[in-house]
Amino acid sequence: MDRKQLIKKYLDFFKEKEHKEISNASLVPENDPTTLFTGSGVETIIPYVLGQPHPLGKRLTNVQRSVRTGDIEEVGDSYHHTLFEMIGNWSLGDYWKQEAVKMTHEFFTKILGIPQERLAATCFKGDEDAPKDIESEQTYLKLGFPKEKIAFLGKEDNFWGPAGKTGPCGPNTEMFYWKLNSIPIPKVFDVNDENWLELGNNVLMQYIKNEKGEFKEQEQKTIDFGGGVERIIVTLNGLEDNYEADMWKPIIEKIEKVSNKKYEDNKRAMRIIADHIKASAFIIADGVTPSNTDQGYILRRLIRRAVRQGKILGIKNFTKKIAEPVFEIYDDYLGLQEHKENVMKELDKEENNFLATLEKGLTKFNKFASDKKELSGEDAFLLYQSYGFPIEMTEEMAKEKGIKVDIKGFNKKFGEHQDLSRTAAEGKFKSGLADDSEATTKLHTATHLLMAALRIVLKDEHIVQKGSNITPERARLDFNFDRKMTGEEKKQVEDLVNARIQCSCEIIHEEMTPQEAKEKGAIGVFDGKYGDKVSVYSVDDFSSEICAGPHVKNTCELGHFKIKKEESSSSGVRRIKGVLE
Ligand code: ATP
Ligand code: MG
Repeated sequence: MDRKQLIKKYLDFFKEKEHKEISNASLVPENDPTTLFTGSGVETIIPYVLGQPHPLGKRLTNVQRSVRTGDIEEVGDSYHHTLFEMIGNWSLGDYWKQEAVKMTHEFFTKILGIPQERLAATCFKGDEDAPKDIESEQTYLKLGFPKEKIAFLGKEDNFWGPAGKTGPCGPNTEMFYWKLNSIPIPKVFDVNDENWLELGNNVLMQYIKNEKGEFKEQEQKTIDFGGGVERIIVTLNGLEDNYEADMWKPIIEKIEKVSNKKYEDNKRAMRIIADHIKASAFIIADGVTPSNTDQGYILRRLIRRAVRQGKILGIKNFTKKIAEPVFEIYDDYLGLQEHKENVMKELDKEENNFLATLEKGLTKFNKFASDKKELSGEDAFLLYQSYGFPIEMTEEMAKEKGIKVDIKGFNKKFGEHQDLSRTAAEGKFKSGLADDSEATTKLHTATHLLMAALRIVLKDEHIVQKGSNITPERARLDFNFDRKMTGEEKKQVEDLVNARIQCSCEIIHEEMTPQEAKEKGAIGVFDGKYGDKVSVYSVDDFSSEICAGPHVKNTCELGHFKIKKEESSSSGVRRIKGVLE
């Protein structure tokens, strides 16, 4: 069975059980500034888990491309990937745990034909917050699991959430599979034996954790099942290494061909290259470009780590070639296909950027690291700053030599540098106000509205000003964002700004402590550089920004705002020129 067949069987099975298929969402979350990438299916439907009715009903299913940045360092083993596909099914206040466990089991044993003897399960063992999950245990016993194949574990392993301090949460129950053929299936399930592989996980959201830290029964009980396509495929095909399965093998073969080396002798390097190039292709196709912040930084890190592993194999200018089979394997991802040209271009560009400094950087690293127990923060920062070595990569290289990196020292240097560039940007902003004429003052207020509108339309609370220059004719605003804005987005931004102008809002000027400004949600850089008091300009609850002024008294003075140009300013920074008509 291959990935496409598995996905089809899964979706068909759950659709037959009255689930509606929801879309496979972008890797860049739309409404969630708390996480960089979509890491599971459930993350794309959080409002509905919280009780909002879903237009498609109470039973949902899909396959979701998922990226887990927390697993990047694990990549190199046989079963953790940066990007993988997750099959998921959900009950939003409909069926409950017995039925959920039964459905998962039916799918594994009847539809996929996994023998019962190879399965084991974990349940929540209970603690002072929530009782032991005997309902799930009972269900497993009825389905034919012997008692010895059911393990009870604590919160760290078998309890999910809440995602924040409060909210929905509950126990989870996982099914495991004995993957070895060379060793007989043990009679007793030992969760610490790595040959038991987790196939899937039913999260049973039955509680709400409240402000007082109490776990109350939830009105809408939710089931969230997630299973990894790669691991299930490997299981079904009796393989012991994910990279032998259909969604990996052609990539590994391509690396073997390009490097003229064998997978057998170079597993770790080849796995990392295959994994990182595949993940990068999907991430670029979802609109990210390499940069030094957020999603763009993760992408940069992935490509550069792959390039260094390539160096170990003795290859360069290879990322494009290795990406080729990714498009063949995932020909069912139309978005990926559509962006093929751009993916290839970005991979190649980032690889070449890094190749320009890699060799020299490696020489420096070797010099810094020789005869030392620890690489200094300063040296690590120099490698980052001048040679483009992501800190995680420097750490990995140090580890290979058996030495440490002074991460605290690195962070300190990094922080100082950020301060310097911020101060520089602010200096520019002040002198950026060419004069205090009426026209520039108006454009200055319009720039605040523009900033607030960008954060809303581009759904990114991390957007900040990277520079500004205002003349009586036009305002120029640079801000961190990684791609071209669409025509629709520009229009939405203009509309939002003009709506505020039309409602004749007063511009409120207040003095407060930086702490108060922060609590108020004012835009600013809170790193201790402000004095005792700051000056904050606000336009009702729409915009609030630390700023020295000057501003108009009322937005009605502004007229009509228009974006004249939106273009790239530098890597990861966009520039908007706007006018008032
Ligand atoms: P693990 O402990 O192995 O990292 P997990 O507990 O993080 O897994 P879940 O959050 O329960 O996994 O995700 C659901 C399913 O997704 C897992 O059962 C597994 O099949 C799959 N999965 C999770 N992380 C990865 C990964 N990095 N690569 C491949 N598959 C994964
Ligand atoms: Mg994990």
